[in-house]
Amino acid sequence: MKKTNTQNPAVEFDPTELAVLETLIHANDYVSGNTLAKSIGISRTTIHTKIDQLKKSGFKIKATSNRGYFLEKLPQKLTPQLLQTYSNRTIKDFQIFFYPSVDSTNLEAERLFSNGAKPPFAVFTNKQTAGKGRLGRKWHSQANQNLYCSIMFSPNTEPQKLQSFTLWVGIEICRSLKTLIPTLDLKIKWPNDLYCNGKKVSGILTEARIDSDRMHTIILGLGLNINSTSKSFPGEIKTIATSLRAETNQTYDMNALSIEIIQATVRAYNKCIEAKDEDSLPKAWDAFDYLKDKPVSLTENGQKISGLALGINSYGALQVEKNNGTIHSIHSGDVTLKQ
Ligand code: ATP
Repeated sequence: MKKTNTQNPAVEFDPTELAVLETLIHANDYVSGNTLAKSIGISRTTIHTKIDQLKKSGFKIKATSNRGYFLEKLPQKLTPQLLQTYSNRTIKDFQIFFYPSVDSTNLEAERLFSNGAKPPFAVFTNKQTAGKGRLGRKWHSQANQNLYCSIMFSPNTEPQKLQSFTLWVGIEICRSLKTLIPTLDLKIKWPNDLYCNGKKVSGILTEARIDSDRMHTIILGLGLNINSTSKSFPGEIKTIATSLRAETNQTYDMNALSIEIIQATVRAYNKCIEAKDEDSLPKAWDAFDYLKDKPVSLTENGQKISGLALGINSYGALQVEKNNGTIHSIHSGDVTLKQ
């Protein structure tokens, strides 16, 4: 994990601490201080210091004389050491920045890029003080319970290539979450919200820098409610928001989920860049379409349109059948479900 020259520097990662952690996770048993010291090439005193640091970060490590150290429990909240350990195993060469608190991960990704960070990279935090939604809306970000991240790419390509990126991210995240939690009733409300049982569990905000017909960078911001309880959402969203915990009565390891989210986003990005799966978008979407066959309304150019949502076309545009039988393609906007 690299430091940035912003006022709020990212957490610096300690490679020795990571090596101690990796050895303990891998062993899944007691490891003597001597073995740890020898295998990593450091003194017993340093081992002791690193174990203390890990304990302070929320790792439960038992120390028993004559047996050594045993990693009893991993922290559930986002922890830089675990994020880095998991990412080293699965998504090498993908830089991760972690902040205990930040205004908005999308804003921080932009700052990092301006300060020289090279995409692709991901920004994670335990707390957003000014989480952003679409159209200037706010994303409520309860500290330590949920996932707040931004993943930045620099495609440097024509913007059309990534016109369905947000939709593919939604699909790939749903696929990952359904694999982990098969009972989850997960749907996507066109174009960017994930719903469980009629309540919003995640919001996606994609922001791109485009000029002279080139898309230079694209940032995928994601808020995913994981371990919040239904009661902990504030009044204005209490009736519309849900979390994985509220849906399944279980809590989840946010570090492992974070890596799944990065992998899902990278799959979606590669699909768009390689342009292999263009025609399969409507079919893939259909499996998670929250609006399908439901009456919807929206305002386009000041005009109110109502009709039945039929799914999306291969460009990702929502197809709405108006009352007069004509099909209207909607490329962007705010769609409301009519009760
Ligand atoms: P919508 O269509 O639901 O109004 P949107 O797609 O236009 O939302 P988003 O950027 O996805 O906008 O999300 C912002 C909105 O989501 C807020 O206006 C609020 O209603 C709701 N919201 C904010 N925080 C959360 C949260 N943690 N969980 C669920 N919903 C939230």
